[in-house]
Amino acid sequence: MIRGLTFDIRRYSVHDGPGIRTTVFLKGCPLNCVWCHNPEGIHPEPQPMRTFHKLDGKETICHVTVGKWLTASEVFHEIEKDLIFFEESGGGVTFSGGEPLMQGEFLLEMLVRCRNANIHTAVDTSGHGDPELFREVSKKANMLLFDIKTTNNHAHIKYTGVDNTLIMQNLYSLTRSDISVIIRIPVIPGFNDNHEEMEAIRDALLPLQKNIRRIDLLPYHRLGRKKYEALGLSQPKVFKPDLNDHQMSELKNIFRLTRNS
Ligand code: SF4
Repeated sequence: MIRGLTFDIRRYSVHDGPGIRTTVFLKGCPLNCVWCHNPEGIHPEPQPMRTFHKLDGKETICHVTVGKWLTASEVFHEIEKDLIFFEESGGGVTFSGGEPLMQGEFLLEMLVRCRNANIHTAVDTSGHGDPELFREVSKKANMLLFDIKTTNNHAHIKYTGVDNTLIMQNLYSLTRSDISVIIRIPVIPGFNDNHEEMEAIRDALLPLQKNIRRIDLLPYHRLGRKKYEALGLSQPKVFKPDLNDHQMSELKNIFRLTRNS
């Protein structure tokens, strides 16, 4: 029986693809981005985590385990509960993480189950995964949410812990498929928040114009910093200052030159 290690199933999401979606978070990620706001999704095993609660003005600490092994049937049962919202909104399921490609067999099984039930699927990926698996996933999913951090390999290694060669190879393999892609770019102050970097990403995306439905620039935020403490991890670097609305909109304008953005 195929099982997947999940760390959350979130309902009514409107930011993870079209319509109202249920997002299944799969645990384990080969990257270690300095800005990650889901650090509980990185380690590929269940792990202890503290949670902090206020009761009568006093802070209390509870100990929980993050990560739960669920069968494909159990996860599908959770997804099915939201069918009515998918039908009314044109939504579906998004598999996110962590990095869903780390649980390839489970992911493929879920994509097939959803396809057989006419449920729209999206996979939110860093693109860092086995090329054959990536091809299979892009055949079985309806959409990819593909994250691009930088085209500069040196910076990519320094800030995410991995080389981006495989990521770019997988991205370009999509030119041979019809899958729809939403590109997501986390805009990190001091890392990639400048015109040169965004122009380099825009140019790198030109061969994918037939696949790309949208390019989203995601502002950096510090949400999730408490989770590092809760997991017993050292606090990540703080990037500052944050970009203001005007600076973000200038960066977004760079992508208006591409079709569909
Ligand atoms: S790819 Fe996503 S989940 Fe993985 S470390 Fe980076 S931000 Fe976190």
